[in-house]
Amino acid sequence: MDVEVFKFGGASVNSAQAVQNMASIVKRYHDAGRKMVIVVSAMGKTTNALEQLVPNAKPEDEQEIVYKNLVEYHLQIVRHLFPNPADLLYDKLRVLFADLEKSRRSGSGAYNYDYDQVVSFGELLSTTIISAYLKQCGVENQWVDVRKIIVTDGMNRCAQVDWRRTMENRELLEQTLKGGSIVTQGFIAASKEGDTTTLGREGSDYTAAVLSYMLDVKRMTIWKDVPGFLNADPKYFPDTVKIEEMPYHEAIEQAYYGASVIHPKTIKPLQNKQIPLYIKSFINPEAEGSTVGPYEVIKPQIPLYIFKENQVLMSIMPKDFSFIAEENLQKIFSILSQVGVSVNLMQNSALSFSICIDYNKILIDQLIERLSADFKVRYNREMELVTVRHYTREIIDSIVAGRKVFLEQRSRDTAQLVVEN
Ligand code: ASP
Ligand code: MG
Repeated sequence: MDVEVFKFGGASVNSAQAVQNMASIVKRYHDAGRKMVIVVSAMGKTTNALEQLVPNAKPEDEQEIVYKNLVEYHLQIVRHLFPNPADLLYDKLRVLFADLEKSRRSGSGAYNYDYDQVVSFGELLSTTIISAYLKQCGVENQWVDVRKIIVTDGMNRCAQVDWRRTMENRELLEQTLKGGSIVTQGFIAASKEGDTTTLGREGSDYTAAVLSYMLDVKRMTIWKDVPGFLNADPKYFPDTVKIEEMPYHEAIEQAYYGASVIHPKTIKPLQNKQIPLYIKSFINPEAEGSTVGPYEVIKPQIPLYIFKENQVLMSIMPKDFSFIAEENLQKIFSILSQVGVSVNLMQNSALSFSICIDYNKILIDQLIERLSADFKVRYNREMELVTVRHYTREIIDSIVAGRKVFLEQRSRDTAQLVVEN
């Protein structure tokens, strides 16, 4: 279908000025006669705030403060965009806030379920505000509840898309689009029973990819606060270079190793239909940006860096001095998966198995407790995991210069180093 699928993340709508800027981008396409599916995340850091409002996540008096701030944050944006206090939008927001209030006070006792019910309000609020604002700017659009379109397996906090059921809603989506552009929520979806689920933090990119796949569009665009796909996170690296052309498989590797520019699940549906992904700057919308597509090689051909801080390097040694072989590995992996720890890097020697994992006190304590029956466990905190794709000798030297390397792994394309932070 010939529509634009746009994804606007939290940073692109985090203030009244940001929403005005976002609307000016959308209006340009609207005035050029383009139809759009506009997928929007929660405003700014709203999802972080909502996580604190999940029943029992925090003492009640602290939650009160978080809630008040959250309401005020949205209202202060809305007052700026809609000076008339009689605007219909205010009624809609009153309903949403009342629903949120109810939701955060009626815990079911199941944390993951409650989480999805509360956290989903971020996207419901942002899309309600943005849909109304776009209308005010002359961009006719329909607010669509994405939970009527994307069906999941019902797993709370990290639902999998039920592709068969979701594709059954394709007609409905196409039909709706005949009536004009759509504004809808990223990140949230629903089980086949209609219960709200979420797709995992930062999941709005994935939502846009699912909708792109359903509609078989010619391209999808993610609007970001960076000029495109950079070869490193500018937070850690002073001289970043923008990638012009990024092959799908390379983008998947990048996301797998932890590059935060796009959500890891986003690429696959696009690759399956050979839909190119544009990453463009909402600050400089005329600029070229990056394209992820069916390319053979990265252009320009430069090394790509991924830095993961706050890592723990854990060594696991059998107490009976047996070798690290199938049986011990099986035990270790089953404990890792039961505790729910994902491993960023692993390596084994005859007598010890090492893993590099994100620091999370609760999970690490559980892990050690479970492992201690059969293994001796030692670990180092404050580690950094550096991954370099298409590395050179000089790059590795500069990363390790003056720092102790605890673990190193290299394949032809990828070097990974665990170093002290
Ligand atoms: N608002 C959600 C989050 O912050 C989803 C997203 O931004 O993509 O995780
Ligand atoms: Mg967000």
